[in-house]
Amino acid sequence: MTDYPTIMVKNEAPGEPLAARTFAILKDRIEQRCASTVVASSAENEAGQIILALAEDLPAEGFSIQTDTLATRITGGSGRGLLYGVGKFLRASRYHPGFQPSTWQGSSAPRGGLRGMYFATHFHNWYHVAPPEEFTRYLEDLALWGVNTIMVIFPMINLQDWDDPQAAPAMQMVRQYASAARELGMGFATALNNTMFKGAPPHLRATPLPDPTGRRGNSGHPICPSSPQGLAYLLDNARQLCVQLADVGVDYLCYWPYDEGGCACENCQPWGSRGYLRLSQQFTDLARGYFPGVKTILSTWMFDTPPEGEWQGLRAALEQDPGWVDYILADAHEDFPRYPLEVGSPAGKPLINFPEISMWGNWPWGGVGANPLPSRFQRLWDQVKGAVSGGFPYSEGIYEDMNKAIVTQFYWDGAQRAETTLREYIAYEFDAAVVEETLALIDLLEETAGRSYLKQAVEIEPVQRAARLAEQIQARLPAWARQNWRWEILHLRAILDHERFAGGGLETPAAESAMRRLVEIYHCQMETDDPYHHRVRPPLRQAVSRNGEY
Ligand SMILES: [Zn+2]
Repeated sequence: MTDYPTIMVKNEAPGEPLAARTFAILKDRIEQRCASTVVASSAENEAGQIILALAEDLPAEGFSIQTDTLATRITGGSGRGLLYGVGKFLRASRYHPGFQPSTWQGSSAPRGGLRGMYFATHFHNWYHVAPPEEFTRYLEDLALWGVNTIMVIFPMINLQDWDDPQAAPAMQMVRQYASAARELGMGFATALNNTMFKGAPPHLRATPLPDPTGRRGNSGHPICPSSPQGLAYLLDNARQLCVQLADVGVDYLCYWPYDEGGCACENCQPWGSRGYLRLSQQFTDLARGYFPGVKTILSTWMFDTPPEGEWQGLRAALEQDPGWVDYILADAHEDFPRYPLEVGSPAGKPLINFPEISMWGNWPWGGVGANPLPSRFQRLWDQVKGAVSGGFPYSEGIYEDMNKAIVTQFYWDGAQRAETTLREYIAYEFDAAVVEETLALIDLLEETAGRSYLKQAVEIEPVQRAARLAEQIQARLPAWARQNWRWEILHLRAILDHERFAGGGLETPAAESAMRRLVEIYHCQMETDDPYHHRVRPPLRQAVSRNGEY
């Protein structure tokens, strides 16, 4: 074991702002995990045990790590690449009983260029209420895994108009996320569709969609863009959004067809290949005036549900005029759409996905702790990995942090196995000595979630085994890891599964104490006026929803 009481780090790229930030992150994460102190070497000729450097001959987001007897050199193709290299170094280092620097050597560069994360900032979930220092730290952690873009939307659907008292705080939150992302070298994405404020004039509203399969949704108050006044209303609000974000910047603009959106009038339908495309093209022209380099993402969510030629219509439209779309986003509630897998992405545009990593197999979302689903995401990825190069997982909170790491690493390297990612995750966030036991625990928890989701009888013995395993792991963890919220939410999940399926239910003292701790970690409100907060709050019987929708 090599034990460094003081670790010298030399930054050979002092002119790169992200290198200084990367040093601060490296120092913080090492000092969190062990007794070593990390200091920046100051003098020109002072050696570093860790050297941070840039090299133009590496891919911009790539990195290399080389080690000799004196030092470990982490080199990025850019500030971003350096940050991702430090992420790899941190995960491959060991911290207990003392710091042992990574012996991993080699180089790596991402296959997928758009490795996003969609934060649903609503319902007073963690993203909605976390203090800025917590979400900034969380963004840093995601960047260490290779996330390079976040998407946050301005929630017009919940607001009367721009003068709604909630509009300014909502915009402030969007801007905070955008700024925090920018400072980490991440891109910022937001979205537009034909659903805007709930105070939209009634005479402008869209014709409700036929929804025979019940999967498209008719949420909000969509506007018909085929009427001149409707189009003017949509473009005017889109313009105001651009003005409000002009200084923080928008790198990606995503258009969304259904759920909150759509129009079934004779001039718009089929929405996905007519009205939607005309409107999205006009949004693009408008947005490029404010953000000249903006890239556009055209979502095809629920296209051809039912079949009405939307995919074919999109292909025909983009063959005529491909220039206004940069990425095609495809996904669905269950199986990935067949069309882009069988026929290919329209006009050869890069295909990205939108995996749901938050809601499957748990209710309320995150209400019983962590929900790692490595087998599920491996299976879903195996169906699309030949076609999909990146995406925006849909996230309701921090309780699915393991799923985020798994999917982000799929985007980085399509061949990386979910289990390999989890091994790195466990060694880094918990301890290298508990990798096998924790993998076994996660496997048991996923099996229980699947049975519960499918309304099958949950077997008691695996639930009891998971609870015992969690206690055995907890006893072996170093103190810092026991206090790491990532371990806590996994541990609490094992306790709550035990109480739900093998104990006295969710009203036992053990269950209530576990849920109270989750309430603290998520910053939930025990009493709320938010009619949807119960979707993201542990189901404590003492919790109150004054405008409750239960
Ligand atoms: Zn219409």
